[in-house]
Amino acid sequence: MAGIRDYQAVAGEQLIEEIYELARQLKGCRVQHINSTFTGGGVAEILKRLVPMMQEAGLEVRWDVIKGNEEFFRVTKTFHNAFHGVPVQITPAMLDTYRRISRENYDLVDPRANFVILHDQQPLGLAEIRPGHPGRWLWYCHIDPVDVDREVWDFLSPWARSCDAAIYHIPAYARNLGHRQYIMPPAIDPLAEKNREVTPGEIAAVMERLGIPADLPLVVQISRFDRLKDPLGVVQAFRLVRQEVPCRLVLAGGGASDDPEGIQVLQEVRQEAAHDPDIFILELPPTSDLEINILQRVAAVVVQKSVREGFGLTVTEAMWKSRPVVASPVGGITVQIIHGQTGLAAATTGEMARAVVRILRDPSLAEKLGQNAREHVKKNFILPIYLKRWLELLTAEQS
Ligand code: UDP
Repeated sequence: MAGIRDYQAVAGEQLIEEIYELARQLKGCRVQHINSTFTGGGVAEILKRLVPMMQEAGLEVRWDVIKGNEEFFRVTKTFHNAFHGVPVQITPAMLDTYRRISRENYDLVDPRANFVILHDQQPLGLAEIRPGHPGRWLWYCHIDPVDVDREVWDFLSPWARSCDAAIYHIPAYARNLGHRQYIMPPAIDPLAEKNREVTPGEIAAVMERLGIPADLPLVVQISRFDRLKDPLGVVQAFRLVRQEVPCRLVLAGGGASDDPEGIQVLQEVRQEAAHDPDIFILELPPTSDLEINILQRVAAVVVQKSVREGFGLTVTEAMWKSRPVVASPVGGITVQIIHGQTGLAAATTGEMARAVVRILRDPSLAEKLGQNAREHVKKNFILPIYLKRWLELLTAEQS
């Protein structure tokens, strides 16, 4: 696994020195990250690389996952949808489940942690024990809370409020909780298996194994099978594109252990695709980093047709690979895709189809968008920059 110094080539010497300088002041500081899954989804993706980097910087870092049953994760998935403005039915039994499982996880909290960081809403109930704990508690909201359901917010927000500060990906997400707020978009690891450079031999081997021919341009969306990623809309947009330009579609993704809806959504997508030989629906196991890397690299266009998106790391990953991206202008995607410069924004199925056709027909546009995309990610959304922001935040909170 890459160490901090290995990022010098991509991030520059000065940034690496700044990281070491900040890290010196935080040496030995105990940090505990708590979320709801080790695999699948953006938060796990971030923690997988952030935690070892913080450890290498000299901090004592733990990453723990709350233990819940299927019922609990059905409740938290409903909350997740409710954050994103999906109409939901909340029952007293659901709230009881959330309180009970939260209670069962109180022991997970490190009593000596200087910082307890709760990622998203699933572990937020642990903040019940904040008053008796000596550390500082931070709530890191990775999703878009702007249209959160009132009842769900009234239930969860007292715990968010009892934390010492909150962190959001973009300014528009900030909520008035009466405590300090930080804006910190996440980042990708350019040296990880998912994002590293690959050889033509690796590409050929993976594409052969996946059974995807190379004779037509590929439109690719990588995402968990989640309605908020609108995979059905992607199939519909693709069908419009194919009337204009011959191409194929790849929809690839796996599940997350905290997302019980994935299997059903996958079935809906299969039904919509109806055995179309030009649509490849790939169910990926959690060990598919190289496959994702290669699918993003071989794509003529990467799409992300999300209805809501906390940040959209799949967009960042494709942009890093200099791919032209067409994505919905929602949530964190709006700080990544600057329309016409770092990609194309498309708000509807028709707009997405037209934008994809435009790119497929104009290689110089594809080239320009891809290059700008990579520069944008390099300046803003790569792991060493993210680590530095974390160290600055912890330093500010400590004093
Ligand atoms: N991902 C993965 N396997 C999959 C689907 C997604 O490893 O089958 C990764 C993807 O490459 C990205 C992250 O999970 O790094 C998804 O983060 P994003 O912010 O795009 O969406 P989220 O799943 O958090 O809503």
